Amino acid sequence: MKMIIRGGRVLDPVSKRDEIADLYIQNGLVALPFEADSSTQIIDAAGRLVAPGFIDMHVHLREPGFEAKETIATGTAAAVRGGFTGVACMPNTNPVADNAAIIEFIKNKALEAGRCGVYPVGAITRGSQGKEMAELAGMRESGAVAFSDDGQPVKDAWMMRLAMQYCKMLGAVIISHCEEKSLVAGGVMHEGYYSTILGLKGIPAAAEEIMVSRDIILAAETGCPVHIAHISTAGSVALVREAKKRGISVTAEVTPHHFSLTDGAVADYSTNAKVNPPLRGEADLQAVLAGLADGTIDVIATDHAPHTYDEKNVEFDLAPFGMVGLETAVGLVWSELVHKGILTPLQAVAKLSFNPASILGLNRGMLTEGAAADITIIDPDLEETVDPAKFAGKGRNTPFTGRKLKGMPVMTIVAGEIKYQRSQKSGVRSRESEVRSQNEGTV
Ligand SMILES: [Zn+2]
Repeated sequence: MKMIIRGGRVLDPVSKRDEIADLYIQNGLVALPFEADSSTQIIDAAGRLVAPGFIDMHVHLREPGFEAKETIATGTAAAVRGGFTGVACMPNTNPVADNAAIIEFIKNKALEAGRCGVYPVGAITRGSQGKEMAELAGMRESGAVAFSDDGQPVKDAWMMRLAMQYCKMLGAVIISHCEEKSLVAGGVMHEGYYSTILGLKGIPAAAEEIMVSRDIILAAETGCPVHIAHISTAGSVALVREAKKRGISVTAEVTPHHFSLTDGAVADYSTNAKVNPPLRGEADLQAVLAGLADGTIDVIATDHAPHTYDEKNVEFDLAPFGMVGLETAVGLVWSELVHKGILTPLQAVAKLSFNPASILGLNRGMLTEGAAADITIIDPDLEETVDPAKFAGKGRNTPFTGRKLKGMPVMTIVAGEIKYQRSQKSGVRSRESEVRSQNEGTV
């Protein structure tokens, strides 16, 4: 029950701590320094980053209903392999998570799997159909951390306003999937140069921006906190930046694919790059990077959306939207943001731990004494080539196959227990961990 993580660079966004230090863990909590005895597990973290456990606040675990794509067990295995100690799962399952019984089911399945924290998001409307309000209070009592009809926008402004009035009372955040369907109109990729030359129907940036502005206006009016999911356009980033300046309670997340790819990735009609919102143009990508750097974008979340091979192995127009993200996210954050100087390690850690935790009201994302010992350890120099065959999750639908990443999660600790440890054999680092008893794999 005792562990010392020795000699790592400890990064704690709450206290702004960034120093080489030992971290002490006892009974599943971060502890004050103690003397090691024979029962103390010693982890050598020299050259590594020691951060509060990462929380992915936008994941599709697919269970109940779509177990061929992913289950709570496989999705959480992917999470810990990706360095995440907790995930918030979206309600677009079958049946939709729109009542307390399904929230309980998800929590029980997560306990059974025993890998990482699972924080269910409840639907805003029954069946996410947008017509009648779901049982928000009952779901809140059962542990729903937020409400969203993710996968679908709440089309009706009156319904969204009512949901915000309820959520304001419940102290819960609304996560908004911003899409004006009349402008999407059957589009399958970003509307721009590539959609024109590929002859595919485009989704204009305005389809997202109209809904971002509507929900900012409603957040201002109701006082309900609103979190913009998977922000993807320059116009949306500008709207959120302006709203924050005006003191409106709005936050935003971006996915790794939206800060590292453009619509050029669709040029070979690869269905693994078909995602909603779509991969955007270069100016949008630059705006997203600026939004990450200046704090407009609070959170990095994956929108992990596994599909089967057969579902994606069809022509572009027919393929479902979505890509997996849990097992490549940290590598992309370090390769594209930290090593390129867009974020400091401490800023990157904040967007992966404390910021999502505080938006969801979770007592997580910090390394102060007494905090839950959910810890992510990263080797910032470890290089790895993305190989979907090694994924712990069921989905292989990633456009990053073969991409070389630098900076990988090497250990995931949940409540003081090692849940995943990465093999270092292929890495550039030859230092061996002192914990020799456990090979690569999900514990
Ligand atoms: Zn969505």
